Amino acid sequence: MSAPKLIPFLPSPHYSARPEQAVIDMIVLHAISLPDGHFSTQYVFDLFQGNLDHQAQPNLAALQDVQVSAHFVVARNGEITQFVHTPQRAWHAGESSWQGKHDCNDYSIGIEMIGDERQSFSQQQYTETARLCRCLMQKHPQIQQNRIIGHQDVAPTRKWDPGKQWSWAKFSRSFAHIQQQNLTFDRPSI
Ligand SMILES: [Zn+2]
Repeated sequence: MSAPKLIPFLPSPHYSARPEQAVIDMIVLHAISLPDGHFSTQYVFDLFQGNLDHQAQPNLAALQDVQVSAHFVVARNGEITQFVHTPQRAWHAGESSWQGKHDCNDYSIGIEMIGDERQSFSQQQYTETARLCRCLMQKHPQIQQNRIIGHQDVAPTRKWDPGKQWSWAKFSRSFAHIQQQNLTFDRPSI
């Protein structure tokens, strides 16, 4: 078996403590592209790290006062980067609720996949997101597969992501095929 792959950690200032009694029992999948339709990770990484140059592109100006993050980002090539430690509360879901429980940030882990509403997600994103979810479920056993859901499910009036390009059937197949969960995370690499 190959050595575990250490996920790079880029610290985000956009997080807070979870409520004391919170049990992490859900994963929320998202899609993001900055600027819209562009799949480089740089602006997304900058946004989550609080370093975004809002003047760099005209449509980034709207993000000036936006403080957001996710625990993980999955790039188009499947590379995973972590921004917030999972015991901490990342700011990804906003106003949200699932099965009568409000504020999903309190009890969920957020994964942003680079993508939009027009182009298919890559096979590497299905594979690596599934692998990451398997690892997270091992670390947080209260997360069941039916509690891996979309941002659009927990905030249906506000959010579209991960959207119609994300195939939950394809994700389930990738998830079923994951044997090796050789990822190490939550340990800063820097
Ligand atoms: Zn989202």
